Amino acid sequence: MDKEIQKLIKGEEVRQKKTMTLIASENFVSKDVLTALGSVLTNKYSEGYPGKRYYGGQTYTDKIEILCQKRALKAFKLKEGEWAVNVQPLSGSPANLAVYLALVPQGEKIMGMSLDHGGHLTHGHKVSATGKIWKQVPYGVNKDSEVIDYEEIKNIAINEKPKIIVAGYTAYPRAVDFKKFREIADACGAILMVDMSHFAGLVAGGAYQSPFQYADIVTTTTHKTLRGPRGAMIFSKIDTREFPKLIDKAVFPGLQGGPHMNQVAATAVALKEAAAPEFKKYAKQVVANAKVLAEELSKRGWRIVSGGTDSHLILVDTWMGGKGISGAEASAKLEKKGIIVNKNTIPGETRSPFDPSGIRLGTAAVTTRGAKEKNMVKIAQDIDNILKK
Ligand SMILES: *Cc1c(COP(=O)(O)O)cnc(C)c1O
Repeated sequence: MDKEIQKLIKGEEVRQKKTMTLIASENFVSKDVLTALGSVLTNKYSEGYPGKRYYGGQTYTDKIEILCQKRALKAFKLKEGEWAVNVQPLSGSPANLAVYLALVPQGEKIMGMSLDHGGHLTHGHKVSATGKIWKQVPYGVNKDSEVIDYEEIKNIAINEKPKIIVAGYTAYPRAVDFKKFREIADACGAILMVDMSHFAGLVAGGAYQSPFQYADIVTTTTHKTLRGPRGAMIFSKIDTREFPKLIDKAVFPGLQGGPHMNQVAATAVALKEAAAPEFKKYAKQVVANAKVLAEELSKRGWRIVSGGTDSHLILVDTWMGGKGISGAEASAKLEKKGIIVNKNTIPGETRSPFDPSGIRLGTAAVTTRGAKEKNMVKIAQDIDNILKK
């Protein structure tokens, strides 16, 4: 193999082994997922959908895509005929873009959580294409409790009448009441989209509430808690509105060309793993670990945004209004000692996004590597020691 690249990949492999990944959006996939990802499927062009392709030679790719769709429905306990899934989105951002392209006329309003409160760029933020083609109606968390205030969101929604409301975030640690979001969407006639990118694996494992009973559309990345290859899926409810047809058209030919069939195969592998009984244990352990980590950091004087977590994710206010250290400093200090995190804004951020007030931690990756509650106590101790030095 290409020696120069091989050496760099080896370097990254060793880095991943020798450091501790507390980045909330990362995980370690199985060997089987890597094998599918590194297979000859990368050679194949499969524009279109199973049975309706533009190129020949689709005997196996059709079977792979159909199997991936079946496994996706099974992993989230959905019935064929009630939900459809598109497994071709190349990643989370194009998946969200495809949903808006399919369902929201240009210039209309997307209601999403603002970036500094934990929303994702693709929820209509102005630097994202989603904020240029559509207009974001932002919402946030309550200033004091730092959790979602459903009454406030309802008022904004009724005043602004967005076409779509997005729930599901990138830096929000708590449970989300999807039933309340359904009521809000109904009150203003909006489509309810849940972006479960961060907590999809927890939903599959039964450790976080499922959004499917209430949402019209559910998008997710496949590479975070779900522990698959980089990629994404779009689930849509089957009814007279014909969302699945509109979504399929928006993904291809609307936004993308040929799907990455190696990635689709690897997603199928990950979905089978996520439907297995061991994955339930994994998901429960991820949340149990996060709760211990949050408590132990809090005991040592660090302010946990919203006071705790219900997921794999913890937001720590390391700055504490000037009594502590900035997020960038905290992240750099930890990296020097082999603990990898990301700096993050906190709700009501007063500093810059390049040097914000906090750090975001997640337990999905360390739990894959076998971490239990007792390890989390030690990790909290280490983090505390490093940050206080
Ligand atoms: C990670 C994430 C995305 C984007 O995924 P990419 O694969 O990085 O494009 C979208 N939405 C949410 C909520 C995410 O956490």
